[in-house]
Amino acid sequence: MKHWIKTPRISSPQLCGLLFVSALAGCLLTLKFIHPATSRIPADVRILGRAPRSAHAREVTLEALCNQPFQTICGNRGITRDPTGSVRPDVEGEVSTLRIYEEIIHQHPEWSLEQIETELVDTIFTPRRRIRLQEAFRWVRNEIIQFIEHQPESQFDEREKKILKKRVRSIQLQIPPPISLYADEPDLFTKNDVIYERTTQGTLRLRVGGAYVVNAKSWFNLVFTFAHELAHSIDPCEVRSSHLAFPAYDRLAACFFTKGIAPPRSGRKECEESDQLSEVFADWLAVQISARALEDFGKEFSGNALASAALNSVRDLCEQEDESSDRSKYDIHPTPQVRIETIFADHPGIQALLGCDKRAATNPTSSKYCDFDYHR
Ligand SMILES: [Zn+2]
Repeated sequence: MKHWIKTPRISSPQLCGLLFVSALAGCLLTLKFIHPATSRIPADVRILGRAPRSAHAREVTLEALCNQPFQTICGNRGITRDPTGSVRPDVEGEVSTLRIYEEIIHQHPEWSLEQIETELVDTIFTPRRRIRLQEAFRWVRNEIIQFIEHQPESQFDEREKKILKKRVRSIQLQIPPPISLYADEPDLFTKNDVIYERTTQGTLRLRVGGAYVVNAKSWFNLVFTFAHELAHSIDPCEVRSSHLAFPAYDRLAACFFTKGIAPPRSGRKECEESDQLSEVFADWLAVQISARALEDFGKEFSGNALASAALNSVRDLCEQEDESSDRSKYDIHPTPQVRIETIFADHPGIQALLGCDKRAATNPTSSKYCDFDYHR
């Protein structure tokens, strides 16, 4: 099973792949026309936080986030920067990685495909970036395990918790080099996709596309993205595929449907293709983990820094909006507005952190955020 939180934006590189070097020059030519305008957080994240603010980055206020979260987060598609790093539009990362590829070919026309891909991967997945990905992965995995452990006995008994934690612990983070790691998906080297997969042999793994690595430098974006993907290892449909049933999951799902966060199934069966339950669950769990990351951050940062960190957590959920003309794309995920406003911004922890008390008091949907203890 594959889950992408990002929707590929460019069709040309998909056609190019990395298999046909001779075709690459033509693909890159096309792209040129597309180019658009504890301390629980690891220590080195703070160091990155002292990077100067880009002249092109935009400011965001807590008030704007509280009052109009969707418009504030998705209203401007440029670079968004918080003290831990930036997030660039998806398309820029894919163009960047293809340009790196092009340069390698120009500089070493005699190289084999394997040599070219090895150089590409070494350039993108640098030791520093790999460490950061590994840190984010471990941090998120540990937080999800803690989240499960801290659920009351009335929601999950010890046996259920053990099953869930075991699944989360078993996920492997797969990031190249070596290039052979993605031998079955070589186009991932230049893609924005972050993918959770369960193989036919039962291995649970997380893979990270090269364009995402180049694009998303914000710690908070890494946290939400990884948390969403790791959440799929224990989402209601994955659990169901293992022939398990948890009453707490049924209560949470009932809340999603009652509040309209997941759309009515209209005759489709649970967990069939285009049932949104697993995606809503993955967002919901990712928000719990993002709230933890932001709470830690909020002990030292406030105001615009905190607002931009919150924005970068879910910044790339906006990109899905561009495909609104194709309704079938929405069948897998809720709309960006639901994901950002109802699932993220209405979370009580996020509301409290950003100081959105006024909005919480006037918004009935945030009066009781969905949880495992939901009762109709
Ligand atoms: Zn997903």
